[in-house]
Amino acid sequence: MSASMQTTVQAGRPLLEVNDLKKHFPIKAGFFGGTTGYVYAVDGVSFSIQKGETLSLVGESGCGKSTVGKALLRLFDITDGQVVLDGQRIDDLSLGKLRPMRRRVGVVFQDPFSSLNPRMRVRDLLAEPIRNFGLAKDNADLEARLAKLMDLVRLPRDAVDRWPHEFSGGQRQRICIARALAGEPELIICDEAVSALDVSVKAQIVNLLQDLQKELGLAMLFISHDLAVVEHMTHRVAVMYLGRIVEIAPKRSLFAAPKHPYTEALLSAVPVPEPGAQRERIILKGDVPSPINPPKGCRFHTRCPYVFDRCRVETPELRSTGGAEHLAACHLHDKPEAENPLARNVALLA
Ligand code: SF4
Repeated sequence: MSASMQTTVQAGRPLLEVNDLKKHFPIKAGFFGGTTGYVYAVDGVSFSIQKGETLSLVGESGCGKSTVGKALLRLFDITDGQVVLDGQRIDDLSLGKLRPMRRRVGVVFQDPFSSLNPRMRVRDLLAEPIRNFGLAKDNADLEARLAKLMDLVRLPRDAVDRWPHEFSGGQRQRICIARALAGEPELIICDEAVSALDVSVKAQIVNLLQDLQKELGLAMLFISHDLAVVEHMTHRVAVMYLGRIVEIAPKRSLFAAPKHPYTEALLSAVPVPEPGAQRERIILKGDVPSPINPPKGCRFHTRCPYVFDRCRVETPELRSTGGAEHLAACHLHDKPEAENPLARNVALLA
């Protein structure tokens, strides 16, 4: 994997803006199916992605990161908030009006085995979105588009006539990526897209995604629990905990100097590449609390090694902690530096 992102991030109006996104799933019970409560899966998430930029959304399983991805794809209606693609709100569009916007967002899911219809040849799997979006002028154009897609994902052109079961896991994920690119999107959502792959195959797919981003100028939302992969993939990182973003920052800044205790704990589990270098592992106590009844105050307070009284009653805002682009939601940053353990850790890591 290449050590740094080479893609040019275009400044100006973001390609994607997500403002205070909420998705609360109702809990139904009883004969009449009345609502007895809600799962607060996503509870006020905001971020933006520039053209050509990768933002990684990370966190433990159940933190709401995949729900954010599905909400952006309009796989369900959101509870509140706004999703704006290239200046146009898409969260409230009717299905008819959403159609042309769908072409602009591709998706790659985790499991390349269940993502592809086993009864369709690769040719038909790739031709389906091209036909649905009315992109091919005629058969010759369709064939040219199929050939280009196979070239893009580094598979032989004649493989379009094979069936999904004839490919390995990594090759199938290449086909899934080709399918995601068939509509010529500007944004790709990768939802744990390399998590199910072996280590060496994972590296190849990560490299491919990076190359494609560079070649096509794609923006990418890379949803992952694997910070070691994210470190190679991304320009910025947003860390989610229990339905909210607790820290968002450029990659270098976040990996070198985490400003939230949860990020610090996640990073402590990532292997350090330099031989001999050591990082003290921080083991968090307990499990992530239920999103049905999230803790009051700071949602991380039940597991935080630095918890103090204020954390149990007051919700910390996501705000600048030093650099304008490095935001974190933690009351520790209101303390004098000498009493802020994160400040001490930053000094150790620097
Ligand atoms: Fe820990 Fe308090 Fe910061 Fe929450 S606000 S992360 S409980 S120190």
